[in-house]
Amino acid sequence: MKRIFKQQLPAPLVGLVNEIEATAGEISVERVPGLPTEMETTIGWGHIPAEPWNLMVGNGPGLAEDYIPHVTIRYKSDLVAADLIRPTVLQAWHPGPFGLFCHELLHAKRYLVDKIPAVYFISGVPQGNPDPQKQITTVQGMETLLEHLVIERQVRRYVPDYPLDFSWRGLWDQIPPKPWFCEFSIHWQLMHAWLTVQFLNEDDGIKQYAAEAMQRLGWLPEARTAAHLMGQALGIADDPAMAVTGKLGMALVACMVFQIPVTAMGLLCQFRKLEMLPKILGAGLLDRLRLTMPPAPVGGKEIVL
Ligand SMILES: [Zn+2]
Repeated sequence: MKRIFKQQLPAPLVGLVNEIEATAGEISVERVPGLPTEMETTIGWGHIPAEPWNLMVGNGPGLAEDYIPHVTIRYKSDLVAADLIRPTVLQAWHPGPFGLFCHELLHAKRYLVDKIPAVYFISGVPQGNPDPQKQITTVQGMETLLEHLVIERQVRRYVPDYPLDFSWRGLWDQIPPKPWFCEFSIHWQLMHAWLTVQFLNEDDGIKQYAAEAMQRLGWLPEARTAAHLMGQALGIADDPAMAVTGKLGMALVACMVFQIPVTAMGLLCQFRKLEMLPKILGAGLLDRLRLTMPPAPVGGKEIVL
C-alpha cells in the first residue's frame, strides 16, 4: 500500500495491512468519487479482472499457488469513512473512524491469508443481483452474510470502539401479509435478518422485537435453533487455527437454516476448485464439528438434520 495511504492508518491497521501484503503482495488503494458505495474491495488474479462480487475464479492450468492475487480497495470520500448511510438493507450504519476500511481489509485477510473457502454455488439459486435487497437471496448474499458474521465481530480487535449496530427495527414491521408468493424467499430474508440481529447487533430491544415477529409467524423455535447452531459454528470460526473448519460448519448450518439441501451447495476452495459441500465435509461432520442441537422446543417445529 502506498505510504500516502498507510500513514493515515492507526497502528493496528498498519499491522493488518502488512500481514495481508506478506501473502498477497501490495494492496492498491484508489479514490473513485463516483463509487456507488463508500468502499469496495476486489480480489483479482494477474491481468484478469475480478468478478462483480469480489472473487475471481482462475481456470488456467497449474495450482492455485501459481496465481498471484491482487487486492484493490476503492473508496469514495476518505479512508476514515466514519459516518455513512446505507440504503434499504442495513439502513443507517455508523462504522466509526476506519471501521469500514478495517472491514474491507478483513475480507482480504480471510480469503488470502487464512484461505477461507467461499460459498460459490447453490443449485437453483441466482449467483447475485445488483439490487442490495434482492441480493440477499442469492449465492453472493449468502457468502456475504457468512463472512460478515465473522468479520464484523473481529473489527473490534483493530478498531476498539467499533459499534455493532447492523439491522434495522423497521424491517420487522414490513413482513408482507400471507398468502405469500414465495415462502422460501421470505423465510430466507427473515432468517438472514434474524442472524444479523443475533450476532451483529447489541440492542436487546431490537432482538426482542425480532423475536416477537418470529413468534407471530410461528418460526421462533426454528429461529432460536438457527442462532444456537450458527453460534457454535462461529465459535469454531473465531479460533484462528480452526477458521477454515469453522467456515465449513457455517456453510452446513446455513443449509439447515435456509432450507438448502446440503447436496446443492458448492464451495470455492483456494479460488480455484469448486467442491460440493458433502464432498468436503465427508462423513461424520457434525461429530467432528461438535455441533449440538438444543433441546427440542415444546410444540414448535424442529429442524431435521
Ligand atoms: Zn463486507
